[in-house]
Amino acid sequence: MSTDASAKASPKQADTAPSLKDRGNLFEIAGRQVDKAMKLINLDDDVAQILAQPKNEIITNFPVRMDNGKFQIFKGYRVQHNNILGPYKGGIRYHHEANLDEMKALASWMTYKSALHEIPFGGGKGGIKVDPRQHSKTELERITRRFTAALGSNIGPEFDIPAPDVGTNEQTMVWMMDTYMNIVAQSERNSVRGVVTGKSVTSGGSYGRREATGQGVVHCITEWAKDKNFNLDGAHVIIQGFGNVGTYTARLLSQKGAVVVGVGDVGGYIANPEGINPHKLSEHVAKTGSVAGYKGATKVTREEFFGLEADIFVPAALELELGLKEAKALKVKMVVEGANGPTYPEAEDYLLGKGVDVIPDILCNSGGVIVSYYEWLQNKRSEQWDTADVLARLEKRMKQTYANVRQYAQAHKTDWRTASYAIGLERLQHCYRERGIFP
Ligand code: NAD
Repeated sequence: MSTDASAKASPKQADTAPSLKDRGNLFEIAGRQVDKAMKLINLDDDVAQILAQPKNEIITNFPVRMDNGKFQIFKGYRVQHNNILGPYKGGIRYHHEANLDEMKALASWMTYKSALHEIPFGGGKGGIKVDPRQHSKTELERITRRFTAALGSNIGPEFDIPAPDVGTNEQTMVWMMDTYMNIVAQSERNSVRGVVTGKSVTSGGSYGRREATGQGVVHCITEWAKDKNFNLDGAHVIIQGFGNVGTYTARLLSQKGAVVVGVGDVGGYIANPEGINPHKLSEHVAKTGSVAGYKGATKVTREEFFGLEADIFVPAALELELGLKEAKALKVKMVVEGANGPTYPEAEDYLLGKGVDVIPDILCNSGGVIVSYYEWLQNKRSEQWDTADVLARLEKRMKQTYANVRQYAQAHKTDWRTASYAIGLERLQHCYRERGIFP
């Protein structure tokens, strides 16, 4: 437990949010989603078998000295799903309910996401079973460094490249990078800066990475609005999760005239039909750790939040938040998955049946991994691209993939999630057919 008075108070879990263990097996649900696309393209059996399980599942139990001098054991994970298209790539999550099946699902989604966007990366995911809010900065630093050392050569700039995810940030990545640099030969230190992405700019990160995922979400919303002849100016938006993804999505959408009328996070839900200022809300969250108690809005229940009058819903918190009950309550025209895996398959079927568009995670929340790829390239070349350059490249790639998915979905008369997986799977299959399986 933290002895640092500056550690944020841990907000209470939002009223009826189910615990992760009660939400079902995420890896099994992920398998059901991808199965539909495998059938659509009649995927080769051997490729299906390879993709059905991760290549490597690493679990490490490691001790860390707490501020009070006592030791605590933590459980860390790194799952490496597939690397036929390039080094394993994916976030590091700090969450008290982190578990292996969750990591396996998240790692597999990274494989399909990179394949869909034609990024030369594979899929990985990892994390620690820890509630970061319960620890001081010094404890978090020691936890991060010890975990990185425990992973050792299981990560590396040409092998497996972590990034931030739920509960981690630029600071976490800088500690990981610095630790890794200190366990390689002195002469190699500077060449391994790209072992993680999502670093601060001063420590080798990329301009534009911080807002990249939210920006990608907003590009998809903009493309959708163009297709549907829908005016974003004045559109009402509700957002669940107000961390990296939720915050930047809210800020960038409000620049387009959209009005954020409801927000929720781990501490509670708030609403204001006149609009919530995302910048002021961010300041409140920075001070208190949650959107709860924000003066410019009224407290609502989780149930009321899902039933708010809005056009767009952006889940940007955890997986499996949108079940049938929530889907039935939603009044929106579109759901844009900023979070990974927020929607149960039966909820998606219900929404699609009602004519609500669902833009899937692997298509729309990929801004982070795309700019991570640019960061990795900049590190390799010892370059620093300016913000405009990074964001222009991101926009081009997001719009190109969006157009590819739209065309594929229309041509095959299928939903966008299946189309997105199918495009990724075709690339993976093509590569396996060319390379064969060793020996
Ligand atoms: P974050 O830690 O910055 O923010 C997470 C947010 O979710 C916080 O506001 C937290 O309070 C909220 N939350 C947690 N538990 C909740 C609950 N039970 N009910 C309601 N809200 C809850 O994390 P992030 O980086 O913004 O990631 C959010 C989602 O987006 C995750 O699914 C993540 O995998 C996905 N994602 C993140 C990135 C990235 O670049 N950070 C990229 C792609 C996808």
